[in-house]
Amino acid sequence: MVDVVLAFDVGGTKTAAALVDAEHTILDSVVAPTPAADGPEAVIATMVDLASTLLGRTRRARIRAVGVGTAGVVDVPRGTIISATDTFAGWPGTPVARRVADELVRIGVGAVPVHVQNDVDACALGEAKYGAARGTSDVIVVAVGTGVGAGVIVDGRVIRGARHVAGEIGHLPIAGAAHLCCPCGRPGHLEALGSGTGMHRHYLSLGGDPAVEDARGIVVRAAGGDATAGRALDESAASVGRALAGIATLLDPGCIVVTGGVAGIGDAWWRPMERAFRDELIDVLAELPLRRGELGGDAQLYGAAAAAWERVEAES
Ligand SMILES: [Zn+2]
Repeated sequence: MVDVVLAFDVGGTKTAAALVDAEHTILDSVVAPTPAADGPEAVIATMVDLASTLLGRTRRARIRAVGVGTAGVVDVPRGTIISATDTFAGWPGTPVARRVADELVRIGVGAVPVHVQNDVDACALGEAKYGAARGTSDVIVVAVGTGVGAGVIVDGRVIRGARHVAGEIGHLPIAGAAHLCCPCGRPGHLEALGSGTGMHRHYLSLGGDPAVEDARGIVVRAAGGDATAGRALDESAASVGRALAGIATLLDPGCIVVTGGVAGIGDAWWRPMERAFRDELIDVLAELPLRRGELGGDAQLYGAAAAAWERVEAES
């Protein structure tokens, strides 16, 4: 028998599950759409189905613990969801750790500890332990995609805060975003301009072509010489860079890792982002490395697995 942990990444559109061994190698993984609109029991059922699929493909794995990275604000000690976006119907209040543990007993896995954390925190833990920031004990991992969030790691531990929301940098007030409303309902926050959604809304506010549907479309137009698209791309990217410079002065991390779909646009986004970051940064921080994430979409699974293995070690 091989000792493994079961890792989950529960995102707004898809849920991934993986078996991860003690050497932190993903032995097998499966993915399914997340039935987020159908309520928490449908999401839990999808997680259990994925676990059954993985276990059906191996006879030699013994599950020691479970790690879950999920969208939403998470009470980690209790393993419950505190709040989530509207796409996850009924997810707030769900006792994910207890429900997953109960279901795994029901399908014959037995009683195992279940660790639940926010997906951006899981991503940060993954990059800090096995990715772009490995070997660094103080790191900020920023995910820029449809939203903007961060995981903050100090002395190797994810900082959760007094109300479980540490790292929600999307709500930093930022210059140049006063005309855009954040998903939290307030104008002028980083996410309102720096996210992919924010870039698109900024482009439209500048008089951009309504036929352009998203950030990817803006990048294509900008590459073709569209000045409005180029300006929206530059200003959106720069807002992230300036915010990161401010965060750097608060925590003086060993490095900052930037990941997510918008960061994945490439140099057209990275160059104005890093230029704004360097311009804003005070001189003593001038050498602070800004790195691209290395684990891509698997970062959350690695981080969820790392937390599960920590739980195994704590209980042995
Ligand atoms: Zn906000």
